[in-house]
Amino acid sequence: MLPKNAADYRTLLWIGLAVALVGVQYANLGLGWVFGLALLNAYFALCCGIIAHNHNHCPIFANKRMNDVLGHLLSLFYGYPTFVWIPTHNLNHHKHVNRAGDATITWRYSDRHNLLVAATYFFVSAYFQAVPVKQFIQKAKVGNRKLYRKIQLQYAVWIGTWLSLLVLAMCLHGWKRGLLIWGFSIGLPSLFSIWTIMFFNYEQHVHTDPWSEHNHSRNFTGKWLNFLLFNNGYHGVHHEHPALHWSRLPEAHAKIAGQIDPELKQGSMWWYVLKQFFLANFWPQLGTQQVGRAPFDPPGGQTTSLESDEVELGEAGTNARMAGGPLQHDYRKAA
Ligand SMILES: [Zn+2]
Repeated sequence: MLPKNAADYRTLLWIGLAVALVGVQYANLGLGWVFGLALLNAYFALCCGIIAHNHNHCPIFANKRMNDVLGHLLSLFYGYPTFVWIPTHNLNHHKHVNRAGDATITWRYSDRHNLLVAATYFFVSAYFQAVPVKQFIQKAKVGNRKLYRKIQLQYAVWIGTWLSLLVLAMCLHGWKRGLLIWGFSIGLPSLFSIWTIMFFNYEQHVHTDPWSEHNHSRNFTGKWLNFLLFNNGYHGVHHEHPALHWSRLPEAHAKIAGQIDPELKQGSMWWYVLKQFFLANFWPQLGTQQVGRAPFDPPGGQTTSLESDEVELGEAGTNARMAGGPLQHDYRKAA
């Protein structure tokens, strides 16, 4: 019943706060409060997405059923069944790290880094991530019925609970007001969560060098940001040790920080965003430049296909992996 790692008491507290906040908005507080608190909803929804990522690498509980239940709860805020992290992230992104074959490559239609490409990356990435998700579901259907039933259950619980919450809001407050309360406390925050997580993925890899030992990811090292987002800024060391618990990423990052290109260690994410999307329009040198070797330029010079390779259920299809067991994949061995 208790989390394996003491740092995850805070994870559970944050999930509890996300639930409580929606409860407060469903109580008869007035629409002004619901709208005003929506920013907090958006923050907690984003946290739930990040927690879903962490939970898929490093499950919070030892008990598989508890992990499944938590996965269901997270999907309500994240806005999609959390199993999708396995085919798109654990089995695909961690393997290819923004090189050809990664469904989430930052350079599919353009290697330029500007507001338009960054803002629309969500649509491009989501479209291509559907490929490994479909393969994963199809393979589970044929080769692992237990996994397939778990996937179906995740969809059913997510859609069923969303609809129930919508109906509840309408019963409590009338259809118009109920729709607004549901939209501002659950619907829109989850859209924000998914969009922002993909935006983070874009910024963590655009113009980095996936052929390098430590320069394959961009890190954001601000203390507050990492406190508020469960150390999500230490992306490089996360790729190098995907099974390492999120609470230990800062110390692991400190050990290799001296070997990372300074451009890939950004202190403030807000300053970085300001530089990249506004100031670089006037002073281009403030925008990112390709660090080292580009992802579309393999050292061997071979031609690259942008198609994602087949995701293999393999171990991912077992119960342990469905609960989000760590994948100790070393992407450099797969290169
Ligand atoms: Zn990861």
